[in-house]
Amino acid sequence: MFTYSINFATNYIISRVNSYKLKNSKPDFKRIAIKVGSNVITQPDGSLSDGRILRLVEDVAILYKQGIEVILISSGAVAAGRSEISPSKKTNIIAAKQIWAAIGQVKLMSSYQFLFGKYGIQAGQLLATKESFRDRVHYLNMKNCISAMLENRVLPIVNENDTVSINELMFTDNDELSGFISSMMDCKSLIILSNVDGVYNGIPGEEGTELIATIDETSGDLEKYISNVKSGFGRGGMLTKCSIARKIASHGVDVFIANGTRDSIISDIVKGKNVPYTHFIANSKRESGIKKWLSHSDTFAKGVVIINSGAKEALLGDKATSLLVIGIIGVKGFFKSGDIVRIEDKDGNNIGLGKAQYDSDKAEKNIGKKLSKPFIHYDYLVINEKVRSVFQD
Ligand code: GLU
Repeated sequence: MFTYSINFATNYIISRVNSYKLKNSKPDFKRIAIKVGSNVITQPDGSLSDGRILRLVEDVAILYKQGIEVILISSGAVAAGRSEISPSKKTNIIAAKQIWAAIGQVKLMSSYQFLFGKYGIQAGQLLATKESFRDRVHYLNMKNCISAMLENRVLPIVNENDTVSINELMFTDNDELSGFISSMMDCKSLIILSNVDGVYNGIPGEEGTELIATIDETSGDLEKYISNVKSGFGRGGMLTKCSIARKIASHGVDVFIANGTRDSIISDIVKGKNVPYTHFIANSKRESGIKKWLSHSDTFAKGVVIINSGAKEALLGDKATSLLVIGIIGVKGFFKSGDIVRIEDKDGNNIGLGKAQYDSDKAEKNIGKKLSKPFIHYDYLVINEKVRSVFQD
């Protein structure tokens, strides 16, 4: 049973009627990323639900025929494989998942290719690992591949490469992957489909619990109210969905969390029909490609630099500022020029992230010195907006 909940302090609930007024512009659906959770397209035993996949394909085909560019991020490989084979007792759980993914991914893609083919749509597969996003060259290769597919009207279907992504190399779940993909591909909208209607202000089904129609940047620290008991086959829960959704919305993407088991939910959202979902309203600010890439790179940081209070004040202010070597009071870890490093204040608060222009050795040797080249140039620097807003209050 799903028990996603947000406590009663929901003074940030804004009615759907107000949502478009608030943003003053309608969401842009020219290029959409759609994430499909395992629970949407599998049956209770984990096997793929052909009927459900067909409904989904029909829905996507409507958009495709209108010239809308769609990138699907679909889970379901591990679940589909699990329903096919029980590995022997001596196979450990990691290897079992690898086997399930190896079998299930083929089944998943066969269904999609066959069903999209019925609508005259060519679908192609792209398997990614977290490592694919670490290196900017690899990242750009992936971006070029999806761009070329879209230009040639081939529908990209992305999943994590679960046969090789193990533990710390894994995405938290495919919600995270869908966030990476939508920001990489400059999608203006992301629709995350699971088997609930969206985010609730309590336990779904209980009296007084309502679906939250819209969430925006003024909605406060929503995450702490959400409990995260999840069901079924997917890895993600509502907590990760919400934090990914907010992060992506803060990059200028409208995000919708909706129920993929409802027929025509995608086209209904696009048409602006009054159907249930939670809309994370896009922040009007848009970031450069490099900054978007960086903002997803926290887990790739090779080291940390600790900065003094003057540098902190400058970085958290409103002016575009680079981090200078003179503002650094400590260096942790080993990194090379070009690596990503985290910026912390002396109390360990995470101030931001950026691409170092010095090796850790050189940075350490020059602590407190005035060097002309910045340690991190502004164009390669992202600030932790949460810390910035607390600091500016
Ligand atoms: N990549 C996994 C699969 O296809 C799903 C991960 C998730 O549940 O988010 O089974």
